[in-house]
Amino acid sequence: MSGAEKSVENHVFEADVARLLHMMVHSVYSDKDVFLRELISNAADACEKLRYEAIGRPELLSEDPSARITLTLDEENGRVVIEDNGIGMSRNDLVEALGTIARSGTRAFMDMVEAAKGKDGAQLIGQFGVGFYSAFMVADRVDVVSRLAGADEAWTWSSDGKGSYTVSQVDLADAPKRGTRVTLHLLEDARTYASRWTVERIVKEQSGHVPVPIDLVEKPG
Ligand code: ADP
Ligand code: MG
Repeated sequence: MSGAEKSVENHVFEADVARLLHMMVHSVYSDKDVFLRELISNAADACEKLRYEAIGRPELLSEDPSARITLTLDEENGRVVIEDNGIGMSRNDLVEALGTIARSGTRAFMDMVEAAKGKDGAQLIGQFGVGFYSAFMVADRVDVVSRLAGADEAWTWSSDGKGSYTVSQVDLADAPKRGTRVTLHLLEDARTYASRWTVERIVKEQSGHVPVPIDLVEKPG
């Protein structure tokens, strides 16, 4: 990071998020592939939201009109990056969207888990799409860098999924020009998700219907 040192805010997850994360981290759910479907679907949703916003504000698209999702695989370092040029998130969006359970689907999931007390919650993960937090089934750190369309600042969110997260401003040079970059630091036993073979298979199986082109890039080792 260049320029002035940016201050780092520490946030504690709301209790339900902490519970959900604990479930993800300790999940015995075998079909961990679903995390990629969830992150790609968020990226595609973000592109769709931008398209809608741009009806009234076409300048939001001007420099880069076509929606795109890029998956970057770094096998050597065990990382996978999901980047979109969609609507992006402000600082407050990051805290609201990734620090609380705002959406009803996840709330319903939590209620089901509560009701199924004692039973294996694993099947439930497959039945509900559990969204962004499913990244913590395969990663021990998730970094999100985002720039809201039309904004002249960018922010990063980072967490190890263990109860808290940080938020800080980043230089525009370190962020997408518009949209969101999600970097997963893969767990040792999930490093297959940085291999082209695995990722191509999952994208074909689970994200074939996504209306935004998905590019696959391999970082040379
Ligand atoms: P859902 O997609 O069902 O709302 P998620 O847990 O998958 O639930 O995501 C939570 C929220 O985080 C989304 O509603 C959205 O506001 C925000 N979000 C996640 N990923 C992105 C992204 N790539 N771009 C913009 N916003 C995102
Ligand atoms: Mg989602």
